[in-house]
Amino acid sequence: MISTLNPTTDTSARGNYGRALDYISASRLSCWQQCRRKHYFRYVADIPSEPSPAMHLGKVVHATLQQWNLWRWDRKPYTMNDLHAAFFHSWEKEQAENTVPWKSDKEHDDLRDKAWELVTAYLDAAVIDESEDIAGVEVRLEAEIEGLPTVIGIVDLVRGGGRIVDFKTAAKSPSQNSAGHVHGTQLGIYALLYRHCTGTRELGIELHHLVKTKVPKVCVSEFGSMSDREIGNVIALMHQYVDSVKAGDCTPSPSFMCSGCEYLSQCKSWQGGEVQGNGDAS
Ligand code: SF4
Repeated sequence: MISTLNPTTDTSARGNYGRALDYISASRLSCWQQCRRKHYFRYVADIPSEPSPAMHLGKVVHATLQQWNLWRWDRKPYTMNDLHAAFFHSWEKEQAENTVPWKSDKEHDDLRDKAWELVTAYLDAAVIDESEDIAGVEVRLEAEIEGLPTVIGIVDLVRGGGRIVDFKTAAKSPSQNSAGHVHGTQLGIYALLYRHCTGTRELGIELHHLVKTKVPKVCVSEFGSMSDREIGNVIALMHQYVDSVKAGDCTPSPSFMCSGCEYLSQCKSWQGGEVQGNGDAS
């Protein structure tokens, strides 16, 4: 369908930025980098994402590892039964809050089993010594930077000495050559926030991927501390982001990723103009 209005010159949305400029985060910036129109649907038009099995699994695995880290941080003894109970509780809680349209009971049960397998695979891999020092778990970091909305990040884990860790669930193993490039924005924001909040340079950043292969895998990508140039680049990127949102840039970036985009139907039928929360174009 041919759009009747060029989204990049649509002025009707100017001055109405939805929640896009309430604050800046790595996920907002990454979404905007991926596709301006997807960012518009999610953060300006504020169309909620449909809960999906993959999101459900990711949240529950994340919550279970968070509990594991909190017990370690508190030096509290725990058993695998305790961890499984925490996992099960997270699964049920997530289910109650965000109902996933499961195709069948089997799909639900298989995914729940897969999620627990990922957790146990991660612990079996012993990537982290259980007794090592922890500087923080689920740490909320904020920075005020001139000319920008507040920058916010929530870091999964800070290992002793200042190694920042982010847990990710993924369908396939990350490319060791490109992981730093693909996640560069997130790495830069975390480093910037860490320095801003602690006054010290991070020792390094690690991405711990829990991969949903038939036999679950754990892949760790390690990066040293970010360079000043990389930090400068991410600050420049945030200014571009603000300018782009204020300009009402909704340029689509069609790619093979569109088949998995939760806004595919709205995108295909969009004829420009503001989109209401129900996804209708006007
Ligand atoms: S369907 Fe593709 S082009 Fe459209 S919003 Fe989603 S990612 Fe962007």
